[in-house]
Amino acid sequence: MQRLLARTLALSSTDPLTGLANRRSLVEQAPRIWRQARRDGQRVAVLVLDLDHFKRLNDAYGHATGDAVLRCVAAALGATVRPPDVLARTGGEELVVLGLVSDPSEARHLAERLRLAVSSSGVGLQCEVTVSIGVALARPGDGEEPGDALWRLVDRADAAMYEAKQHGRDRVVVAGAAVVPLPRATPRSAGGMA
Ligand code: GH3
Ligand code: MG
Ligand code: MG
Repeated sequence: MQRLLARTLALSSTDPLTGLANRRSLVEQAPRIWRQARRDGQRVAVLVLDLDHFKRLNDAYGHATGDAVLRCVAAALGATVRPPDVLARTGGEELVVLGLVSDPSEARHLAERLRLAVSSSGVGLQCEVTVSIGVALARPGDGEEPGDALWRLVDRADAAMYEAKQHGRDRVVVAGAAVVPLPRATPRSAGGMA
């Protein structure tokens, strides 16, 4: 009975397609992250990741390939985030990373590593896949409710992610910072997805 209960609990916090944490699990882990940020004097960072032109990928290769790409991207991101970070699939082709950083530069570096992990994951699948990432940071406030604070940060990171889309996709935008050009030229194959 205990094993069944544990299994049911695990399933209720897991996204079935990718095996990542789901939205509920992200919310449940917010208090732990906020406690740690207060204790260590760190900032909470939220990264909102949205795959670029994913509808086109589905249209070109089919939904089964789209699902395979999502699983591959999830595995690549899972191997790239730091162990205490929370990586959750919050919607169709949208993911959130919740973690602790010392400053915006550390958050930007993490986001860049995730962006590159996504573009590398398309290579084995022989289709181009890229991601736009918005980043927002905050210091935990006194008496702040982590659940509310989490969604405020997600909203800011989401707005930054839309800015990344507007600036050409396949890039990172940190809320409140200038948009930095891509650090490298991105080769585009004919008929590519971006
Ligand atoms: P943008 O770069 O602006 O984000 O373009 P987009 O095409 O990614 O955005 P849009 O919101 O228009 O479409 C998202 C697509 O993601 C549509 C839907 O078919 C696809 N999608 C969402 N969830 C899944 C899923 O679980 N599996 C597959 N294969 N596709 C999914
Ligand atoms: Mg989307
Ligand atoms: Mg998208």
